[in-house]
Amino acid sequence: MSLQSFKSTFDEILRQNPLPKKHTWKLQQQVNMGYRSNQDWFEVLYRTRASYQCNHRHNWESSWSMISFLVRLDVKQGFGRVRMKRFGQRCNLCKNDDEYHLGVCSPVQVWFTVQRLLLHILLRYYEKRSDCDSIMEQYIIPINEVPQGRSGSGPHQRHCCEACANDRCQEVFNKLTKKK
Ligand SMILES: [Zn+2]
Ligand SMILES: [Zn+2]
Repeated sequence: MSLQSFKSTFDEILRQNPLPKKHTWKLQQQVNMGYRSNQDWFEVLYRTRASYQCNHRHNWESSWSMISFLVRLDVKQGFGRVRMKRFGQRCNLCKNDDEYHLGVCSPVQVWFTVQRLLLHILLRYYEKRSDCDSIMEQYIIPINEVPQGRSGSGPHQRHCCEACANDRCQEVFNKLTKKK
């Protein structure tokens, strides 16, 4: 599913169940990865399943489809922003595939992902839970909540994975999941 489907799901859920204090929340695309210097943002890293296709029509599935959400609330303005980055994968069958292809998630997974994201926003900004206190802490969805499937659960092709290249995949995910 495209960014647009995440956006419309996000808007739809918020329309039915607005966050407290009448704050406005927007989901946008995360264009660069230079967020680490900005401490006002916190990150939710989410792992889901997606199916992929390269330019030569090879198809594959992966349960290591990583999504990063950067979240920030401007309390004075009553305006919250979420910047979303989906990590792609290269084709393992094409020699020297130099493009990261974005996976397609089912509408159910999009919905599930957005729900979890909003739950984290609620806990951090509105219920001020102590485990959400530290600056730039990364919230990782517990691994046992990753939607399971038969295919796509083989060994992870790290050299094809954009999230691995950005240190946003297996190691960091496992480490932070354990910590929780
Ligand atoms: Zn290919
Ligand atoms: Zn990876």
